[in-house]
Amino acid sequence: MPVVNALSVDVEEWFQVGAFERVIARGEWDLLPSRVEDNCARVLDLFAAAGVSATFFTLGWVAARHPALVRRIHAAGHEIASHGWDHARVFTLGPQAFAADLAQARAALQDACGAAVRGYRAPSFSIDQRTPWAFEVLAEQGYAYSSSVAPVVHDHYGWREAPRFAFRPLPDSAMVELPVTTAELGERRLAAGGGGFFRVLPYGFSRWAIRQVNAQGQPAIFYFHPWELDPGQPRMTRAPLRSRLRHYTALDRMGGKLARLAREFAWSRVDAIVAQLGTAELPSQWPHAA
Ligand SMILES: [Zn+2]
Repeated sequence: MPVVNALSVDVEEWFQVGAFERVIARGEWDLLPSRVEDNCARVLDLFAAAGVSATFFTLGWVAARHPALVRRIHAAGHEIASHGWDHARVFTLGPQAFAADLAQARAALQDACGAAVRGYRAPSFSIDQRTPWAFEVLAEQGYAYSSSVAPVVHDHYGWREAPRFAFRPLPDSAMVELPVTTAELGERRLAAGGGGFFRVLPYGFSRWAIRQVNAQGQPAIFYFHPWELDPGQPRMTRAPLRSRLRHYTALDRMGGKLARLAREFAWSRVDAIVAQLGTAELPSQWPHAA
């Protein structure tokens, strides 16, 4: 039996990305053209054609403005989970502000889809060694799982010492953390869970990485963004060159690569992967630096 992998989409607008955070103020967001509905429609079509279900980690900000989109995703059989309110990274918040961000997002998501939200992904994988309190806040609010850690060094994020595979971050809670997928090449740990790496690097890199993880009996935790399927999105000329290169490269090839990925591996929603993991047997670790 092939290992079933977790497929996820971080639902945000083309301008709500870490790469543009310094050049677009949150106050400008409502003035920019929204493309999230059209872009999610492409994602839903692609998933329907491939016969896969996935988890949509959605910003509360998006759900409050596009509740019909959230209902449509949910009605198509996908899981609605939280990506926080307005993409504030967890390490920029304190415990109280994080709790308020979570609650505001969940209210908007649940109002929109009418179903309980039980999963969370931090914006830009921003739970790391600076935020040892974040898992406690998530457990207090009753989340079943989080997929918020990138166990790799990256210029925007990363927590090199974190476990690569699912673990229980709190000894007295069944809540599970599913770190985004990494691959190992000799001594090096490589980001391999999707996003810009999947879009920019050859398809074969992701196939190799997912096969490596599956050969260890582990599910891959893969993600992408709706704006990555949108070659027609506005160009943010104010952003630094490196950010623009990363954001706008290979948008036209993304749909074909995703369709291939959907065909070549077995995929499901993140909540289904958590159920299949059997949380009681998972290692309990508190991996922040002592
Ligand atoms: Zn995001």
